[in-house]
Amino acid sequence: MNTATVDTMKKHNFSAGPAILPANVIKESAQAVTNFNNSGLSILEVSHRGADFVAVLEEAIASTKELLNINDDYEVLFLTGGASSQFFMTAMNILNEDETACYINTGTWSTKAIKEAKLFGNVNELASSEDTNFSYIPKGYNVPEDSKYLHITTNNTIFGTQFHALPDTKVPIVADMSSDIFSRPIDINRYAIIYAGAQKNLGPAGTTLVIVRKDILGKVNRTIPTMLDYRTHIKKNSSFNTPPVYPIYVCMLTMRWLKEQGGVSAMEIHNEEKAAIIYDVIDSTPLYKGAAAKEDRSLMNVTFTLADDSLNDAFLAAATEAGCVGIKGHRSVGGFRASIYNAMPKESVQILADVMTEFAKVHG
Ligand SMILES: *Cc1c(COP(=O)(O)O)cnc(C)c1O
Repeated sequence: MNTATVDTMKKHNFSAGPAILPANVIKESAQAVTNFNNSGLSILEVSHRGADFVAVLEEAIASTKELLNINDDYEVLFLTGGASSQFFMTAMNILNEDETACYINTGTWSTKAIKEAKLFGNVNELASSEDTNFSYIPKGYNVPEDSKYLHITTNNTIFGTQFHALPDTKVPIVADMSSDIFSRPIDINRYAIIYAGAQKNLGPAGTTLVIVRKDILGKVNRTIPTMLDYRTHIKKNSSFNTPPVYPIYVCMLTMRWLKEQGGVSAMEIHNEEKAAIIYDVIDSTPLYKGAAAKEDRSLMNVTFTLADDSLNDAFLAAATEAGCVGIKGHRSVGGFRASIYNAMPKESVQILADVMTEFAKVHG
């Protein structure tokens, strides 16, 4: 092999999370570690109350509002504790003990959200796809009008399913968008709360984006610990305590990049095109079997198995050889998962698709 023509460093990162970030964002983040804003200081050592970082936080909030078309009824917060803390914070802040919230159970993360909400009020698990190991998005249920909220996981990172339409209801929605935030436009008015751990489609691990409609707060009769009360963070503009400075900075850079790309509408088109490249191989090659129901397939996480499990190691080796990393499926689904978030270039998706096609020619 002529190594001069092969970039052996080039990796195509299909990891589910923490996950790929735009190359430019990585470059600028690295630069800020050594010299942030030409201050002669590292971003790792500056005050969260200093003007330079306050400007970063304000830009991150403003860009979130701009990209998702969020009006002034809502507040944008950058918190810590991961999406997993939002499983309980959402219910703790808006669900009274004698009220009922509805949940759609579409996988591991929904199941965890349900468990936590039950600590605070009544949970009505309206629909679930557990019967088929969460291979589809349930439909055809009615959301009782007196429900406090309806909780959904818009994209199921592990199982590779995604809501392509919102449930037909006027009940405000609480959504875990950890793995598809900023991947497409949303209608903000349908939501009471949106939350997303940054490390899938937005930035590095360490911060959680929360978008909350102000008028739903202050209506529960329990005492909420200060740090777990959204109103604390609203009042202090996400700086009640030391916010995760560096993760927020990287999120801000990702949003700059998103705007350069044309925003979330452009992203949606790009994401549809990328996903189609791999799903087309799955559908046209008997060796591959998609794990999710076709109409509910995720544009972010493509899950598939091989018709012959004994070929798994050889397939993984072929993908690795081509620089494709992070494609081993989650243990609860098996097989493979290609996570193709916003930052994943189409060229990298094509390389994985080519590996799949070539592998099927030899082993199919
Ligand atoms: C990864 C993930 C989580 C968990 O996020 P943490 O920030 O690790 O708590 C929750 N929900 C979804 C949909 C996820 O993909």
